[in-house]
Amino acid sequence: MLEINNLHVKLEEEDKAIIKGLSLSVEPGKVHAIMGPNGSGKSTLSYVLSGKDGYEVTDGDATLLGEDLLEMEPEERAAAGLFLAFQYPVEIPGVGNMTFLRTAVNAQRKARGEEELSAGDFLKLVRAKAKSLKIDADMLKRPVNTGFSGGEKKRNEILQMAMLEPKMCILDETDSGLDVDAMKLVSEGVNALRDAGRSFLVITHYQRLLNHIQPDVVHIMADGKIVKTGGPELALEVENNGYADILAEVA
Ligand code: ADP
Ligand code: MG
Ligand code: MG
Repeated sequence: MLEINNLHVKLEEEDKAIIKGLSLSVEPGKVHAIMGPNGSGKSTLSYVLSGKDGYEVTDGDATLLGEDLLEMEPEERAAAGLFLAFQYPVEIPGVGNMTFLRTAVNAQRKARGEEELSAGDFLKLVRAKAKSLKIDADMLKRPVNTGFSGGEKKRNEILQMAMLEPKMCILDETDSGLDVDAMKLVSEGVNALRDAGRSFLVITHYQRLLNHIQPDVVHIMADGKIVKTGGPELALEVENNGYADILAEVA
């Protein structure tokens, strides 16, 4: 599904390397978690994969279903099936959440050569998906994320994901700012989307999210590289001992 090979990324504006030789292979249907200390480059990885400006790939490559991801515009990546749930969801005053979702869904369908959803079909779909995430009608009518609480913003990211039905879902610290109940809702929303043809890259600083979204593979990232890969037990090791032990072991 997602193949990253020896990726090196620096900031465009200054000579600062952030991703320093990262390789990763996510198979269809699998959930991979990336854990790592703050500043290790987790968000940068998600930005580079989704096509955010300001970064320069100096070596390596990344493909989605065999297509060169790094050559595509952000919207082409989305149409190809990539989705990123932001660590810090953006507020968009003046753009209604419902309008935003409908525009995104129909752009996606158009790019895939499918017909647009009728207003009625869209409404039915968004209401059903919003309900399972306990997003009420009021939140659908308000401007995107504007004045939403931290937990509401994260739930809204998962609603976008559920509506777009991507193939490769990247969740960047979706658990940060969530209380226990919101974490359950978000995890249930993610688990409902787990499917043999869909993969997840779950970026998290803490192990607790991985109690709810059980990963197949866990990677530890530090200083721009994956330094250790294992099963779910690796996340428990981090929870019990922190990152220091693992970093000392690989140093
Ligand atoms: P993480 O998500 O693992 O906490 P980030 O990807 O946010 O890490 O950041 C990795 C490193 O790159 C940090 O040292 C951060 O300060 C730096 N960095 C990332 N983007 C920028 C930027 N646009 N300008 C300056 N420094 C940046
Ligand atoms: Mg961080
Ligand atoms: Mg981050």
